Order: sequence, then C-alpha cells, then structure tokens
Amino acid sequence: MSFQAPKGTFDWLPPRSEWALLVRDALSAPARRAGYGYIETPAFEDTALFSRGVGESTDIVTKEMYTFESRGGQSLTLRPEGTASVVRAVIEHGLYGGALPIKLWYSGSYFRYERAQAGRYRHFSQVGAEALGAEDPALDAELIVLAADGYASLGLKNVRLLLNSLGCKECRPAYRAALQDFLRGLDLDETTRQRIEINPLRVLDDKRPEVRAQLVGAPLVTDHLCGACKAYHEEVRGLLGAAGVAYTDDPRLVRGLDYYTRTTFEFVHDGLGAQSAVGGGGRYDGLSEMIGGPPLPSVGWALGVDRTVLAMEAEGLITERAGHVDVFAIPLGEEARRRIFPLVSELRRAGLAVDMAFGGRGVKGAMKAADRSGARYALILGERDLEAGAVQVKDLTTADQTAVPLAEVVEVLKGKLS
Ligand code: AMP
Repeated sequence: MSFQAPKGTFDWLPPRSEWALLVRDALSAPARRAGYGYIETPAFEDTALFSRGVGESTDIVTKEMYTFESRGGQSLTLRPEGTASVVRAVIEHGLYGGALPIKLWYSGSYFRYERAQAGRYRHFSQVGAEALGAEDPALDAELIVLAADGYASLGLKNVRLLLNSLGCKECRPAYRAALQDFLRGLDLDETTRQRIEINPLRVLDDKRPEVRAQLVGAPLVTDHLCGACKAYHEEVRGLLGAAGVAYTDDPRLVRGLDYYTRTTFEFVHDGLGAQSAVGGGGRYDGLSEMIGGPPLPSVGWALGVDRTVLAMEAEGLITERAGHVDVFAIPLGEEARRRIFPLVSELRRAGLAVDMAFGGRGVKGAMKAADRSGARYALILGERDLEAGAVQVKDLTTADQTAVPLAEVVEVLKGKLS
C-alpha cells in the first residue's frame, strides 16, 4: 500500500522549500524590526473560539473547519486563521494589563476544508502580525507599511494594495440596512437571499458574474461612514501616502471574517489567477469582547506564504541558487573519509556551508554530486594527499586546482569565501 498527501495538501521539497523559509523570514522581518514579539499558539483550539471569533455565518465556520472530538469529549478545531488564537492568548495571560499596544507576530500552519485548486489549499502557511489595545490610525498604517515592505524586500513588483473602511458599530448598522434594502430587490437564489439577512456584506464578495452584474448600483460603505470613521480613514490614507505606499481605494472590499471594523485591506497579485490575494487584514475593535475579553481595539494582518512563493515564481524571482552549499568534500577511500569528516565539521563550525560525498561512490559520481550541490569549491582528499598532509581545493567555476596543507584549509577557504 502506498500513501499520498491528502487532497488539498502538498509537500515542500528542496530546493523549492528554501523559498518558503526565505519568504517566511522576509515577510516577518519588517514586523520584528518594528517591535513585534514572537507568539506561538496551539494548532488547535476550542471550537467555540472560532465559531464566536471568526463568525457563525462565515464560510470558514459553516463549511471549512476541521472539527473533531478529543478523546476527552471536547470539541476542538484545527485553527483556520491566527487572529482569534492570538486574542485568546492575550486575554488568557492578561497581557492587556501591560504597555499598549501589544505587538505580536507569528507564523505557522492553518487548515481550511476549501475546494482545492491552484493557490488554494487545505493546509497552508501564513505569517501574521497583530497590534492589540490601541485605536490609532498610525498603527493601521504601520502594519500596512510593514506588509508592503515585506513583499518589496522579496523583489515583488506586482503586488497591489486594496484599501477600504467597513465603519464601526455606530455607522455600520445604517449601512447594513441600506444594503439589505438594495439586495432584497435583486434576483438572487435562495442561499444568497438568506445571506442578505445574516451577513449582507458578504454578498458584495460574490464572485459569480450574474450576481456581480446586479451589484453595480449597490450602496457603498464609504458613503455611509460616520464622521469619526471618515476622519480615521482619511488619516490612514494620508499616512500611507506619506510613507510612500501606493494603494487603490476599493469600497467593495469586504473580508471573509466577521470581526473586521474600520480599516480593511488586501494585497493582491495579478499573476495568480483566481486566488489572487497574497495577504490581508484589518482592524477588529470588537473581537476581544466577542470572545469574553475586555475592550481591546486592535489591527492585524495575515500574509500567505504559499501564494507569495507562487507570486515570486510568476515574476521569475525564483532561481536555482537557493539552498546551495559553499564547499563539497570528496574523500577517496576510507582513510580519507576518516580524515575529511572532522575537517568538514570544523569548516561548518567556522560558519561555512559544507556537504560531503557519502556512500563511497567513485570520484566521477562524487564530482557530479559536487556540481549538483551548487558548491563553489570541491575538497578532494586522495591517498597521495593524505601522505602529503594536504587536500586538493578545486574551484568548480574555473576548474583550477591547488594543494593546500590540511592544517591551513579552514583559513584558506574562509578567506576565499569571505
Ligand atoms: P485570509 O485571512 O483568509 O484573508 O487569509 C490571509 C492570506 O492567507 C490570504 O491572502 C492568502 O494569501 C492566504 N490563504 C488563505 N487561505 C488560503 C488557502 N486556502 N490556501 C492558500 N493560501 C491561503
């Protein structure tokens, strides 16, 4: 019997997997430099945390959660997103009692039972950042700038930022009612009609052309913002402009999670087909209270690692060079292996990336492996070299070869590679 990775999942394999690590690192680096501390939460939580936190009427909660009963009879769910867990941890540990805002970043696996297709998986990876406990347009702008800088640091040119405000608990109800009035007059199927009553904003997100065509005249949230929300949004826009981050206002941008208020945004990449969102986020002022915590106005984002690698591939930014070593050691015979093994360890401890030939293959196979490794230098140790107390250092780009005394190899290679 043979096994395959479950539908909607895939394995990251070298050398491509190096890019996943690199993306994770690059997307989190700007937040780490801006005072965000690392948080790690469990991959599963109480089911109720997500049904309450993400929203009972969302696709995620109604259709996409991996929910199971533990042996102890508790309903648990593999996390479909990161924000609810972070807010839960902040409340549980009373972090809101200290200095505000609490700035946190995280990275890990997320699970949604989605219709699997290119760029949409059932197990995927995100880098996230959250700033909790402050209502300040500069904080919304900070997070957006950090995400934009993360994409830019990877060399991505075609990431676009879409920006919107969803209003607050003062102005959203009137907008919601106006939108419901408009939507009830449209020709829609029964499921969508039900959605109008539960979560009308989500109808704006419908991707079907026959629905989209009818939505052209829908009331826009930006026309219904209260004075405070309007001023807040203007401030965020101004700060983004001042920091040199370009954006497009998208009054139809709603997000798939219920907890958003005011600022919402999405980063999209046009080279990815239907699954164009590489990241997104927004402000969620009511979430803490929804899951039993104190008022804690907050803002955050989650950026998709898998789709960011796809975006880099679409822009031709993925080269073969990732994950190479500097030096490849080739022992010819057992005595040579005994001697070269500690030398390889020593080189690695000196900070060089070094691999060696294993399995006692002949020199030809070992040279092939050296080429494949991407190493700049091969270290070849034969019987005659052993007698002479030296090793051959071969430059694999020029094929020049010189004998270097074993005692000097570490220094010589460090010098060549610095
Ligand atoms: P969301 O919170 O759903 O907006 O997710 C944030 C980001 O995570 C998205 O912009 C995607 O880049 C990524 N993402 C979300 N769901 C998936 C999925 N099923 N497969 C791959 N990436 C995903």
